[in-house]
Formats: sequence, structure tokens, C-alpha cells
Amino acid sequence: MLGVGLAASLVAGACGDSGDGETSAGGGDGGRLKIATTVAPITSIVANIVGDRADVEGIVPEGTNSHTFEPKPSVAELLSEADVVYINGLVLEEPTKELAEENLKDGAEVVELGTMTIPESDYLYDFAFPKEEGKPNPHLWTDPTLARNYAEIAKDDMSERDPDNADYYAANYDKFSDLIDGFDKAMRTSFATVPKRELLTYHDAYAYFAKTYDWKVIGAIQVSDFEDPTPAEVSDLIDQVKARGVPAIFGSEVFPSPVLEQIGKEAGVKYVDELRDDDLPGKPGTEKHSWLGLMRFDYITMTEALGGDASALKAFELRNVAPDKAIYPQ
Ligand SMILES: [Zn+2]
Repeated sequence: MLGVGLAASLVAGACGDSGDGETSAGGGDGGRLKIATTVAPITSIVANIVGDRADVEGIVPEGTNSHTFEPKPSVAELLSEADVVYINGLVLEEPTKELAEENLKDGAEVVELGTMTIPESDYLYDFAFPKEEGKPNPHLWTDPTLARNYAEIAKDDMSERDPDNADYYAANYDKFSDLIDGFDKAMRTSFATVPKRELLTYHDAYAYFAKTYDWKVIGAIQVSDFEDPTPAEVSDLIDQVKARGVPAIFGSEVFPSPVLEQIGKEAGVKYVDELRDDDLPGKPGTEKHSWLGLMRFDYITMTEALGGDASALKAFELRNVAPDKAIYPQ
């Protein structure tokens, strides 16, 4: 009898809180769901699915090192209001995940889009992500075929949380998936013109991409604690670049490093220090400022620096399939 009474009072309390009775979607404001996300590419992918039917707010400010990011205590407020928190997973955002788990309201969940995308047996451990440290390379989103899975998982999850808008989410997913098909084609056309598809990057963000698109990552300059390599390691990298005969090496705009310049100069190759892995180009609200804009920018940069023809990628028009109303902290 006590159990029944308790359950009844909880139900009554829940109804009283919402006031307007529109609780079908589980959210407070007339059923509108609130979504928290971590890095900007995930925010953009989720925004392409939910458009203006839910509120999306990112946590990791653009241009910061997401691998060592610790959320400020004030992020707890956003996390306590969120109906769902979409993170990458693969051990990328542990401090944010912990803060979320401490602050989530009843029924809210952390959903790891990357972790759900591939089985553990497909995790890649390499240069900056050695197996003995237990952190797999988390950059699945730089491979469009895997970014599609993020979108699909978000679509399925949102359709369950907010069934009234499930058709809208499904339609956006179909459009986004078509967009990825077109982009994938443009990538393959441009990459076919690159004489030697070999990458030496500063930040180790292209392992899964390389596997899918038949590139070879010959090394990453940044070591596993996200610092610069030792002088001995730098000298090894210089030898490697010379031996492979690649025309260019790539730095990252988020991690400026004089070491990249040194390796480029001493190996006699061009160094291009503007790749991005989770910092979207352009300003929020523009087409450039999107997951697709980020990936198109990177792949044009790589193709051209390595002597290929990026015209297929350049001709691929940037667009979001739904209005992007997300908040991107800068
Ligand atoms: Zn990264």
C-alpha cells in the first residue's frame, strides 16, 4: 500500500511541475527538448537532425583543446536542464561526462554517439593514442561515413524522446545522409588526383578517415599528452618526412606549434598549419560554420597541398539540411 501511495504522489508532483500539461516530449517548456552537446562538429550534426524543433547548446568552446577540456562548474546548470547530452565518447570528454552524470535530471541521459558508432574491436590506437594509455583515437567524425552514424543514432534517440517530431527528424536524417553521399563522391573524385595520399599531421585526427578513404597516416607530431615531441622524436620525424617524399605536412589551427615549422623547413617540405578537427570555420550562423564546412575545408587543404585537384570538393555546395539554431560557445 505504501508503494502505491508513493507512486501516486510522484505522478501528481510531476504533473504539477509542468503546469501546461504538455509533457509528451518530456521537456519543461511546452514539451520542447533541451539538448546539450560537447564539441562543435557534434553540435552541428545534431542541429542538422533536430533543426528548430529542439534547443541545442554546445559545451566545449571552439578553438580549445577538447582532449584536455574541463568544464567550468557553471556548465552544471546547462547539464541539469538537458533532456539528453550527446557526447562523442571513446574517452574524449570524461570530465564533462562526469559532471553530466552528477547533474542530470530524472530521465535525462548521456548518449555517446561515437562509442555507439563502432564496436570496440574497430577502435584505432596509434601515434597520439597508444593502446597502453587506454584512450582510443576518438576522431570518428572526420570520416563522413561514420559521421552519418552519429546522425542516425541522434535521429533514433530523438524520435524516442520526442515522438511528435519523429517524422521531421527522419526526413532531416534522410536529407543529411544524401548530403553525405554527395560529399563522399566529391571526396573520392578529388582524392583520386592526389599522387601520394600520405599524411603527417600535427594533431592525430584522421586515423578512421584514412582507413576508409585509402590514405596512410605516416605519423602525428603531437604526442599523447598533447605536448610537443622531444628533440630526438623531432629528428626522427624529419628523417621520416624526407624518406617518404611527401610534399607537405599539416599542422592544426587549434594547436599552433613551432615544431611543425622546424620539421617542414629541415625536411624541405611545405607546412600547412590550418587543419581543424573540432573547430568549425567561419562564424556561427553561416553555411561554412558546420560539420560539412569543416570537413570540406580540411579535405580541400590536404588535396591541394599534396598536389591534387580539389575542384570536385570546391564545387560541392555547403548547406545544412535544417535550420541551425544551436548555440556554439566561442
Ligand atoms: Zn582532436
